[in-house]
Amino acid sequence: MATSITLDRVEKSFGGLQVIHGIDLQIEPGEFTVFVGPSGCGKSTLLRMIAGLEEITGGELRIDGTRMNEVPASKRGIAMVFQSYALYPHMSVYKNLAFGLETAGYKKAEIRERVQRAANILQINPLLQRRPKALSGGQRQRVAIGRAIVREPKIFLFDEPLSNLDAELRVQMRVEIAGLHQTLGNTMIYVTHDQVEAMTMADKIVVLKEGRIMQAGRPLDLYNRPANRFVAGFIGSPK
Ligand code: ADP
Ligand code: MG
Repeated sequence: MATSITLDRVEKSFGGLQVIHGIDLQIEPGEFTVFVGPSGCGKSTLLRMIAGLEEITGGELRIDGTRMNEVPASKRGIAMVFQSYALYPHMSVYKNLAFGLETAGYKKAEIRERVQRAANILQINPLLQRRPKALSGGQRQRVAIGRAIVREPKIFLFDEPLSNLDAELRVQMRVEIAGLHQTLGNTMIYVTHDQVEAMTMADKIVVLKEGRIMQAGRPLDLYNRPANRFVAGFIGSPK
């Protein structure tokens, strides 16, 4: 079920301005990969190209070996979770979770089952009849993740999902997302500018700077054998 992602000399230009330069990357099925790097280094752009929300202007993206460059977002089997929760304020939590499935034409019973399964995983059963404004930040983020889960995607992409939460809640949600990965076993990419998040959550870290990969590997390998000063500084290795 889990899925591989291959980036083969992937590039992105906006107009004349190139912001992603020749990215080569292999993500194995079921891997939890973290893209980390300073603001503006291209993390979101890379993620949006994988999701199909941004056109790839050079190179090739493959999912399970199949070229995806021209495949529309809705056909890629990918769900994305953003930092802004973007829940529908006038709908209950249940409806927020069900809405995408309803518009996609799923039957009521199937929808109920999927929402129930997601609610169990995220432990939000008691919240299903509430409106988003009656939820805490952490609860809202759980619902946002739930909206991704109900679609049963092959791949989950997270773009700084915890950056609106306070420090304590961030730590708690980190553990929950790691648990979600354990439970579901899907291939996941998680974007953050937070080194601690990267070090604690990743199977594989990809350190980016100005649209290029500085180093990719397991957290401890990067820590012990940083490829350059930037990686050492960013990961916090001893110099
Ligand atoms: P990050 O997520 O790492 O903070 P982004 O992927 O958002 O970085 O941005 C990478 C670079 O691409 C930045 O220089 C940003 O200004 C530029 N960029 C992003 N989106 C657009 C766009 N729609 N048009 C022009 N430039 C963009
Ligand atoms: Mg970003």
